[in-house]
Order: sequence, then C-alpha cells, then structure tokens
Amino acid sequence: MEHLSEDRLDAYCLGRLDLAACLDVEAHLMQCTECRRRFLETEELIRCLRAIYRKEGS
Ligand SMILES: [Zn+2]
Repeated sequence: MEHLSEDRLDAYCLGRLDLAACLDVEAHLMQCTECRRRFLETEELIRCLRAIYRKEGS
C-alpha cells in the first residue's frame, strides 16, 4: 500500500482536491494509522496558521 504524499495530504486538508481525490484520501485514512496521524498533525497545523492569520487580519 502506498502512503499519501505530503502534497496530497496538504491539498486534502485545504479542501483543494476534487471529490474523487477526496474519497481516495479518505479511504486510505480509514485503513492507515500512520497517514491518519500525519493528517491530524497537518490539520492541527493548518488550524494554528489560520488562527494566526485571523489575528493579524483583524
Ligand atoms: Zn498511509
């Protein structure tokens, strides 16, 4: 089984993938704890970055 690339995971977290690609990523996340861990880290990072941008923007 091939793992998700950083780019793909980033794009998924940022909502940049089309529906078919999203489903592919989700199917992999369902069965791969390693990628799920990376996904959660990426999601957390993006949440932090967004919070910082929001503060600077206001
Ligand atoms: Zn994986």
